[in-house]
Amino acid sequence: MIKIEHIGIAVADLAQATPLYEALLGTPCYKTELVASEHVRTAFFKMGDQKIELLEASKPEGAIAKFVAKKGEGVHHIAFAVEDINQEVQRLKKLGFQVINETPKAGADNKMVVFLHPKSCGGVLVELCQERKDI
Ligand code: ZN
Repeated sequence: MIKIEHIGIAVADLAQATPLYEALLGTPCYKTELVASEHVRTAFFKMGDQKIELLEASKPEGAIAKFVAKKGEGVHHIAFAVEDINQEVQRLKKLGFQVINETPKAGADNKMVVFLHPKSCGGVLVELCQERKDI
């Protein structure tokens, strides 16, 4: 793993949370993106080399809607940048980590992503992400 790429925070209302985080971080949101396949709308903030990703459910059946309903707003996942996502998945599987989606899928912000189950990561949902090179 290279570094923490971003921290994902689930929010109930992106329109309300965006100005709050702009005030908190002292930096404007630089990008919003709908990830239709994940039923989520995202807003990104840069902090040096790292980012904060706000996540709002775009449909009630999505994972973010379920998370907010069950746990309320708050930290949802930590994303680590990796050089080679497939190699990293194989390495982690050998060590006993439980992979949610073994085949990388398209995530927000031009990334290919794989999630590791919180049960195998001390209660933290972990996202591995690699910059997409095919587009
Ligand atoms: Zn993320």
